[in-house]
Amino acid sequence: MEINALYDWLKPKSKPLLIAGPCSVESEEQMMQTADSLARTGLVSAFRGGVWKPRTKPGSFEGIGSPALKWLKAAGKKHQIPVITEVANARHVEEALEAGIDMIWIGARTTVNPFYVQDIADALKGTDIPVLVKNPIHPEVKLWLGALERINNAGIKKLGAIHRGFYAYQSQPFRNEPKWEVFFELRRLAPDLPVICDPSHIAGRSELIGEVCQSALDLGMDGFMIESHIEPHKALSDPLQQLRPYDLDLVYRALEHRDEAIDDERYIAKLEELRYQIDKVDAEILKLISRRQDLAKAIGPVKYENQATIFQMKRWFKVLENRKAQGLSLDLEDELVHELFQLLHKYSIDTQIKNHHE
Ligand code: PEP
Ligand code: MN
Repeated sequence: MEINALYDWLKPKSKPLLIAGPCSVESEEQMMQTADSLARTGLVSAFRGGVWKPRTKPGSFEGIGSPALKWLKAAGKKHQIPVITEVANARHVEEALEAGIDMIWIGARTTVNPFYVQDIADALKGTDIPVLVKNPIHPEVKLWLGALERINNAGIKKLGAIHRGFYAYQSQPFRNEPKWEVFFELRRLAPDLPVICDPSHIAGRSELIGEVCQSALDLGMDGFMIESHIEPHKALSDPLQQLRPYDLDLVYRALEHRDEAIDDERYIAKLEELRYQIDKVDAEILKLISRRQDLAKAIGPVKYENQATIFQMKRWFKVLENRKAQGLSLDLEDELVHELFQLLHKYSIDTQIKNHHE
């Protein structure tokens, strides 16, 4: 792929690059007020705003559509900052170009389908508008790269990728699993391609955006696209993951910039990957403990009804002995298993007693 350098076409107001704006353009005032506050931070190189929204559930707010294009454009004009919106078909491309939108992105639900991407590529022929391509919903790096190549083949050289995480049945604590290794593979296959992170759609919750940004920065991503809304709780789409411009400013300025010479991308990626796995395992552990507690609640009445004591010494010793043996076969220290089950047993007993007195 022949690609122009990111900072040649998107003049950075700050490094790493920051694109920010609401998930959806909802009204002229909401867009303008958000843009005014974002511009005041002095950090934002482009305003984002969704005009046509791909929503999971029918009946959800699907974007204002065409009229929102001019509100987005007006916000950019006022602050001399380029604007970007999502397109999902050739008609969107035509309308966005006509409205003077400066850049476009292709959403995760569009990248998955080569027919859609090709239609968009065809509609882009003859223009040189910058295009950012989000990863497909599932972690298929070739499909992501294929979409970028289709756009590139249409003559677009101002290209970039947006990493927004991947759908997973279990993605706690995030909305979308980051799967940083997919980004690494993309970097390996297309080393010159700028890649920015969308921490909003990865995190799904505004309070996790800072840590996702820090990971992306540590891993060597080139910038961010972050959702920001003047009043997040009133947002018509993605209210939980949008930051007020003021908070976005705080999050961005709190990021730690590591010395590139000493940062070892492989080490950091490995650490992130392992911690991510640990977070997932912990979520599983908590679910299992909750199930165990539910069983404790159920066993209490059975004992009471039969005039049996809650604490049964023989059973407890058997449990302990048996769990330690199981632990041993899993290479777990005796002490760890002992302490863990003492704690579980203590809370199980407490639960049975408490339930009885309620
Ligand atoms: C968005 O950026 O608002 C959006 C819909 O993103 P994605 O395609 O990543 O779901
Ligand atoms: Mn969104």
